[in-house]
Parts: sequence; C-alpha cells; structure tokens
Amino acid sequence: MKMGKKIEKIFVKTYGCQMNVFDSERIEDSLSNFGIRKVKEPQWSDLILLNTCHIREKAAEKVYSELGRFKKIKRENPGIKIGVIGCVAQAEGQEIMQRSKIVDMVLGPQVYHRLPDIIQKIQNGERVVDTEFPLEDKFEKLPQSKQVNRPSTSFLTVQEGCDKFCSFCVVPYTRGAETSRSPEVIVREAMELVESGVRELTLLGQNVNAYQAQRKSGELLDLAGLIEEICVIEDLKRLRFVTSHPKDMTDDLILLFGKEKKLMPYLHLPIQSGSDSVLKKMNRGHTVKSYIETIEKLRYLRPDIAISGDFIVGFPGETEEDFSLTLDLCDRIKYAQAYSFKYSPRAGTPAYERDDLPEGVKTKRLTKLQEKLKIHQKEFQRNLVETVQEVLIEKCGKFSDQYIGRSPYMNPVVVASPRNIIGKIIKIKILSSNGLTLSGETIG
Ligand code: SF4
Repeated sequence: MKMGKKIEKIFVKTYGCQMNVFDSERIEDSLSNFGIRKVKEPQWSDLILLNTCHIREKAAEKVYSELGRFKKIKRENPGIKIGVIGCVAQAEGQEIMQRSKIVDMVLGPQVYHRLPDIIQKIQNGERVVDTEFPLEDKFEKLPQSKQVNRPSTSFLTVQEGCDKFCSFCVVPYTRGAETSRSPEVIVREAMELVESGVRELTLLGQNVNAYQAQRKSGELLDLAGLIEEICVIEDLKRLRFVTSHPKDMTDDLILLFGKEKKLMPYLHLPIQSGSDSVLKKMNRGHTVKSYIETIEKLRYLRPDIAISGDFIVGFPGETEEDFSLTLDLCDRIKYAQAYSFKYSPRAGTPAYERDDLPEGVKTKRLTKLQEKLKIHQKEFQRNLVETVQEVLIEKCGKFSDQYIGRSPYMNPVVVASPRNIIGKIIKIKILSSNGLTLSGETIG
C-alpha cells in the first residue's frame, strides 16, 4: 500500500454550537497523544478538519464554498489531507466525497474516537466515509491529554442527541437519539479538569436536562443527581448546564437553583414562540403556560436568576397575533439574553415544505423582536451597575493590565489589575455597562 506523508500537524475550523467547540478541542487534545499538534493556519498543517454545523441556513452550501477556498491550499501543498466532520458530514455523507474531490474523509459526530485509525487510512491514500451511530462512548475512547494550565472554564459533554423532533430542527437526524454518558466517567473527567485548574464547568448536551444514565450499581441518575455529585468536587467553584428543554425541567432540577451554591443563577431555556398554536406546529411538547410556570418556580427559589432564550420568528403559519404573543412573553419574562432568528427551512425536516411567509414579513418581525430583547438585556445589565459581583477571571483584555471575566449571570466584565488574576474569583464593583459588557473595579 502506498504510504503518504505522515500527519503531524492539524488545523481545525469549527462552526456552530458549544458542542462542536468541545468536540474540536477534544479532538485536538486527544490527537496530541499521537504526536499530532495543532497549528494556527490551514496551510501549515498536514490535515485540515472542518467541524461543520447544520443549524444555519444553507449549511451544506457554505461547506462546499469553504472547500473551494481550501482547493488552492491543496494545489500548493498536495500532501495536505482534508476532512469534513460534524453535522453537515452526517447529513451529506458520501455526497461530499462525490461533489468535492479534495476531501479525504467525512465523519459524523459520533465516530471521532475512530480518528486515529482513520488518519492512518487516509495517510495511505484511502478516502473514508463514516457516519455510523455506534453505541460506545466516543469521549471515553478518545484519550484525554494530561494538559496542565488549562483555562479556568471548560465544557464537559454529558449528553448528546435529541428525541424531541421539533418540526424545524435537524439535530435528531444529525446527532441521533438522546444518549447520556456514564456518571462515573463524567465525574472522573470533571475531577481531572478541576485538578488541571478549571474552576467553572459547563455541562453540555443538545438536550442536557434529558440526561439519564445508569450508575454501575444499576441506579438511575438524572441531571439533578449528576450536578449534586459534581458539585462535591471541592475546588470546583461554579457549574452551569446548557441547552435545556422546557419539557425536561424537573422539580428536582429547579430546586437545585435554590440550594446548590455552585450552580450559577443563569439558565438558557429556549421557547421559540410565545404562541401555543405555533408551539404545537413546532412540535415543542410544552405550552407557554407551563414554560412561564417553570420560570416562576425558578424565580421564587432564585429571584436574581438570569433567563436566556431562543426564538424563531416567521414559522410557517405564524400570524400577527401569534407574533404579538411572542412580544408579550418577552415583556413578561424579561430575558437577560436571547438568540433570535428568522425561520428558514431545513431539508429533511417536517416543516421544510411549509415555509409560507414572505421574507419581508419575517425580517420586520425579527427587527421588532430584537429591539424588544435588546431593551430587556440592557435593563438587566444596568441593574447590575453599583452592585458587587463575584467574577471569575478568564483571560487578558486588550491592554496589559486589563482582564476579562464573567459574572454569575454570564455577563462579560472588564477590570484592571496590576497582577495576573486569571483563574481567580474576584469581587468587583460594577461601575458601568455599555449594553454588552460591564466594567468595574476590584474591591477589598
Ligand atoms: S429540542 Fe427541538 S430544537 Fe432542540 S435539538 Fe431537539 S429537536 Fe432540535
């Protein structure tokens, strides 16, 4: 068999959600155990990986146009291998190989643990497509490097996939059914991360609060139980989890916000629309009333909790009245942060053929919604001015004595300090807000 150039340097370009960011970091991390180090520019690498996302509009076309750009690099360095991984890879599979001759591998999100073997194969000139949904835990199979001096915050995937089948969403098709990682493995990884300097963990899952796994003893554990176990780790100071589905916000999980001090007062809880009729068409499986009740319970236990949301406007069949109900909901919840998009059809989803609202109507509604969301976001930030917040410092700022951290509510906070405070939780008096970022001074 023809032996190609040995792959020693990798460049990963990541699109989309935190799950993809985590996957890419984990791939880079684990491949370092095989002597493959990451580089900052694609032309310096032996292997370029595009970790793709299928959520945004025309995702596949964007990948093909990105591949067009890499064609030039491959022409100049024919030894470079190119891989497409992630959700677009899962959805398109073999099609990518057929449309783009420069691609050497196409891997779905569940088979990254097979990368070391697949790299061997592509080194030898093979072209590989692997979009299976194997049963084993890819993260457990991917060795973790013993990296010291990690950043002070880290993601930790605990759950993947989704069984909810919202009528607009591709995730159940690209990431597969809901699967949860073993609690013993998660707790061990959390301890390793904390030992290497991490002070804040964010547990990740497409439907994180659907987490349910069996301990070795056979006992079932849900997300609330898992959080309680992780919070026992002494040097772990903060915990968050994302993304939650309103239907899976159990009372045990809600109660934790009132009693577990390490659980930060921030929850991303997407609703998508403030109209029950639209929620039904979206197949969301919950109502506006049940969503509001969940928020009310959370606010009763943790009055300062910051709620973040997701919205889709212009969903097929959304009337002016439906849309005004969404605006009313925003006024009621007063989101501290929110992500909002115009509906755009995704091939293969039930709502694909139903797109029926003119683009102009969607644009107008989105503008109106975003104006409202911005007002509430600014108000939330303004209310923090003159308060003292505990801020976990994550990185350096633009200037030499400047540092950036996050408040318990996820707001970026800028502060000056003559000494390096990265990784520390510092009390900061908030002096001003520019709408997106807070600025303050250290106290004490
Ligand atoms: S809950 Fe709905 S929107 Fe979220 S990943 Fe599952 S199908 Fe997609």
